[in-house]
Amino acid sequence: MNFDAPEEHGLLRDAVRQFFERELPETRIREMDRARRIPRELWRRLAELGWVGLAVPEAYGGSGGDLTAGVVLCEELAKRFPSLAVDWVLISMTARAFLEHGTEEQKAEYLPRLAKGEFLMSFGMTEPGGGTDILGLTTRAEMAGNEWRISGQKLFTSLADDADAILVLCRTDPAPEDKRARGLSLILTPRQQPAVTVRRLELMAMRAACTCEVFLDGASAPADAVLGERGRGWYHLLSSLDEERTLAAAIYVGITQAALDLTVRYAQEREAYGRPIGAFQAVQHPLAEVATELEQIRLLTDKAAWLQANGRDCAGEAAMAKLAASEVAIRATDRCMRILAGYGLVEESAMERLFRDARLGPFSPISNEMVKNFLGERLGLPRSY
Ligand SMILES: Cc1cc2nc3c(=O)[nH]c(=O)nc-3n(C[C@H](O)[C@H](O)[C@H](O)COP(=O)(O)OP(=O)(O)OC[C@H]3O[C@@H](n4cnc5c(N)ncnc54)[C@H](O)[C@@H]3O)c2cc1C
Repeated sequence: MNFDAPEEHGLLRDAVRQFFERELPETRIREMDRARRIPRELWRRLAELGWVGLAVPEAYGGSGGDLTAGVVLCEELAKRFPSLAVDWVLISMTARAFLEHGTEEQKAEYLPRLAKGEFLMSFGMTEPGGGTDILGLTTRAEMAGNEWRISGQKLFTSLADDADAILVLCRTDPAPEDKRARGLSLILTPRQQPAVTVRRLELMAMRAACTCEVFLDGASAPADAVLGERGRGWYHLLSSLDEERTLAAAIYVGITQAALDLTVRYAQEREAYGRPIGAFQAVQHPLAEVATELEQIRLLTDKAAWLQANGRDCAGEAAMAKLAASEVAIRATDRCMRILAGYGLVEESAMERLFRDARLGPFSPISNEMVKNFLGERLGLPRSY
């Protein structure tokens, strides 16, 4: 077994650190968090650095990185700006969907523009009726002449207000009640049209991810806007779920690492009773536990990424990584917040944002209860849902 990270991962970590130091300081991140928006120029800049199209093959203008590189980048983005990491994961997932299921024309049209940060796609699956029981969705599309007409409502669609198009999961064909996964399609729906209206949500966590409610009122999309096979949209998505879970885990590894680093620094500087508070056992012990749990979730996340990058089954490891990392981030930010005490609640402290942003983890992109249902089933127990 070799636990040495490849040299290029170290270079990628350094490049991200230098980028934030030079171009995206904490004050700027805080402004974007308050404005609840990531400006297009930032995506273009990340694209110049080769990071928006990290997973896109070089033949389509991307950097051709595998999932182990994706995990490194995602963790480094999440350390400083978790909302940016959330949207980056979504962009990567849309790229992957096109790579795996797009026609050659669709790949040639969208992937190079995506890699340049010129074409942003968001992903609309969740609906007001619930994100867990996703197959119960009610958004429908039908052909009218030579185009699709899509009607329904999506909820919690990140990036939707700023995107050029939304990849909408909707029902195009009927399916029997016990086979609801059939008859769903992924349709790339242009965002800028009167029949698509978007309301930005004022969420507590991941504020800059621009998470929205989307109303589709007979929205039109060209006949060839279906990604992959009509009626097989859900099955196309299944292949990307492991990657999404592993990248989600990387977000919470990043948040945990950032919270730990910040708190250790604070514990070395802040004094009480004439000593740094870090000299007290009551401060050292929780930090030692956070460091231990961080190591566990990093190993699990790296293993899931390595398995996927090497073409192995990683469904169990990806689910476990997402479950463990999101729970550790909640515990870690809570412990760190107690050590920072009053300072942790001040908006100028990055800790306040890390604490809020960690709250997304236990239920997105999949709830930890559903992850446990899935893991229980993998243990050979009956399906519980
Ligand atoms: C900031 C943010 C960004 C997001 N971005 C996107 C996006 O870009 N695109 C997108 O499509 N979605 C997105 N989502 C939606 C996210 O994926 C959903 O919130 C998530 O899937 C959970 O759905 P829900 O919130 O409707 O909860 P529900 O599905 O209503 O679940 C509520 C509770 O019931 C539990 N539950 C439900 N069924 C079971 C069961 N069978 N067994 C045990 N427990 C169960 C759940 O675990 C949960 O605790 C985002 C959400 C947020 C908050």
